[in-house]
Amino acid sequence: MKKHSLTDLWENLSAFSNPVPSDVAGTMQALGIEVLREVSGEDSTEFLARCPAHLALTGKADRRPSFSVNSRTGLFHCFSCGYSGPFVQLVEDGLGYARVEAFQWIARRGVYRTCSDEEQNPQKDPDEPRITEAALALFVPPPPRALETRGLTAEACSDFGVLWSPTSKHWILPIRNPMTGELWGWQEKGKRFFRNYPQGIFKSRTLFGDLTWRGTTALLLESPLDAVRAHALGIDGAFASFGAHVSEAQMRLLKDRCTTLVLALDNDTAGLASRDRLYARWRPRGLAMKFLSYSGISAKDLGDMSDEAARSAYAHAHYPWRRRRT
Ligand SMILES: [Zn+2]
Repeated sequence: MKKHSLTDLWENLSAFSNPVPSDVAGTMQALGIEVLREVSGEDSTEFLARCPAHLALTGKADRRPSFSVNSRTGLFHCFSCGYSGPFVQLVEDGLGYARVEAFQWIARRGVYRTCSDEEQNPQKDPDEPRITEAALALFVPPPPRALETRGLTAEACSDFGVLWSPTSKHWILPIRNPMTGELWGWQEKGKRFFRNYPQGIFKSRTLFGDLTWRGTTALLLESPLDAVRAHALGIDGAFASFGAHVSEAQMRLLKDRCTTLVLALDNDTAGLASRDRLYARWRPRGLAMKFLSYSGISAKDLGDMSDEAARSAYAHAHYPWRRRRT
């Protein structure tokens, strides 16, 4: 399936920059957000308003106003409910647009500037060498014994680009740009060992899995190897977030790819808390979500389950509200 190159360009632009309209206050008005106060800082102005997401997220309208948008960065934040993000997200949520449409809508109103990744994430080292595909030539397909211990298949590893380091005897899990497939780096994983290469890689801006996949039901796990395991078990649309914290960008990538998401984060305090937070935040935005069933299972994650238990946990994934009423 070939896409038009102009669309690709827009997708890339919109995914990796934060367009800020030249007239932030006027653009807020156009989104139906009334600016109630302005607070001028040294190099920017904060526009205060009533939080537009408050009712959906907390069940109560914001009276205070708790919400502010920065004129320079375009970043918005609600001090009360935590609703926050780049300006383009406000447009997506306010007008029900996809990311690309929201980007174009802002561009039509005059882009003041775009905030690059570096500005939003100053900890990134700009001298970091760029990774190329050739770096993966050091690695080989995982050996049969390694596949066996994890319940994986060579086909599943090949589908997800999983490799093996013959020197360290660790798994190599490539991390790629979700729009272009460009290699950003990888996670090296062994027993009680993992390292991201390069350090500070933007894994929270992408997902592990088949990023070209689109379908009805996707599955979200924490660990990349668990996603490969799910795929090996014949479960379609398995992705991993690289940890219990699932970013806004990752959820948006998932929402673009499926209509129902099965949350299969780890069965521990961090995983369950994250699962509940994601549900509270993304259900009001129209993403249907089910929870993987850990009932009667002591395993911490899908990777620790027998084939039968894993298939059953997936088959019995449930909508949380049904469970709560019993
Ligand atoms: Zn709020």
